[in-house]
Amino acid sequence: MLDIHTHFNFQGLIDVSEDFSLVEKSVVFSVGIHPNKLKTISNLEDYLENIKLLVNDKKCAAIGECGLDKFAQLDLVQQEKVFLSQVEIAKQYSKPLIIHCVRLFNEVERILKQQKFSLPVVFHGFNANQVVVKHLLKSPNFYFSLSEKMLQEKNNIFKSLSLIPLEKILVESDTDQNTDFYGLIKKIAEIKQFDFQVVKTTIETNFKNIVLL
Ligand SMILES: [Zn+2]
Repeated sequence: MLDIHTHFNFQGLIDVSEDFSLVEKSVVFSVGIHPNKLKTISNLEDYLENIKLLVNDKKCAAIGECGLDKFAQLDLVQQEKVFLSQVEIAKQYSKPLIIHCVRLFNEVERILKQQKFSLPVVFHGFNANQVVVKHLLKSPNFYFSLSEKMLQEKNNIFKSLSLIPLEKILVESDTDQNTDFYGLIKKIAEIKQFDFQVVKTTIETNFKNIVLL
């Protein structure tokens, strides 16, 4: 198992936030409020209560995806408030976080620091430049999940990946049903100049350490 964030793959850490019935078929799942979905939730308090109920399920391995998005059509104050509630739940129930973050890395980091959040934090669909990567690597509990969609030459992550230690790297399908994990790992191995098998085994170990299988 290595898919750390997916909306359809039952063999990975599946995000059930939009359909709680997926819990049944999952091996492990995450649940949370995506910043872009915030305005579609009519009763926030109820939804947060539902998250708390699901967190008690043995198969719940993380809170998320949650976080901050510069392009979400909702003001940042409201986004931060809901993100903070979820960080608190993750802390209370000792669960890692799956983070959705677009261009607001400093803000996410500030909230996590203020909360003294020390469990694993996975930035999913990660894409950032070398300056941001260097900064985020100072937090020992931060991990970076790569997708085929993001790991392309035109994106910053293509260049900044060389800075990220193998022990911090994860892979994901997210919403892409055609994800070729073999190809994705091969690309990571080439960029980082490691043997394919070493990369694959390390990513599987990273997954296990976070999901605690
Ligand atoms: Zn997602």
